[in-house]
Amino acid sequence: MAEVNLDGIGMTSRRTRERLIERLMDQGISNFRVLDAIRNTPRHIFLDEALAHRAYEDTSLPIGYSQTLSQPYIVARMTEALLSLGPRKRVLEVGTGSGYQTAILCSLVEQVYSVERIRPLQEKARERLRLLNHRNVFLRHTDGTMGWKEKGPFDAILSTAAPAVLPRELLEQLGPNGMLVIPVGPDGQQELQMITREGDSDQFTTLVLEKVRFVPLVSGTIR
Ligand code: SAH
Repeated sequence: MAEVNLDGIGMTSRRTRERLIERLMDQGISNFRVLDAIRNTPRHIFLDEALAHRAYEDTSLPIGYSQTLSQPYIVARMTEALLSLGPRKRVLEVGTGSGYQTAILCSLVEQVYSVERIRPLQEKARERLRLLNHRNVFLRHTDGTMGWKEKGPFDAILSTAAPAVLPRELLEQLGPNGMLVIPVGPDGQQELQMITREGDSDQFTTLVLEKVRFVPLVSGTIR
């Protein structure tokens, strides 16, 4: 991947990025591929210039339209969960947002399909992913509550927005042994769930990872 250096921020960020990696390891993230992906993905380019200097803090940050770029710890935790039962080839992401989580996935799996309901966010994300030279990504402006049926089934699905109740369509688009990593629940009571299809059956196993705070999964699209 090309090294991106925007007005010196890239230089500062190499050191600060390393500090972030140490912090993630302290918090229990141990998958080296995931840590490497975070180390090698500049987070500052996914933020507006005014916030870029805070890119390597372990905190969520606003990206406009009342949406947020997830905290690095959460990105790491979800990605680690997604890969915990082995490598995944085709992955669907619901909620492209800034495209940061998308970029992390691009460096870890063969093909990333990512859907976003707010068009201007999707367009910015597309530019950034192009800047980083990720060619294994397919973006679509749509309501991700329905997944992306034509491209399914997926080996894994990751949602970065929280439905109050799990959408049936996402479970249906999981292939054999497919895994869904998703925050579920009403505002203030969300938990991060890891749901696995058992073989090619219609049985699913759910593991609750931790309490989380995500923006809600909202139906419909914005142009
Ligand atoms: N992964 C993103 C997180 C963005 S916040 C990042 O790293 O920046 C969650 C995103 O989910 C928002 O951009 C929001 O617009 C989007 N979203 C919410 N409901 C959605 C839906 N039904 N379909 C697609 N995207 C949705």
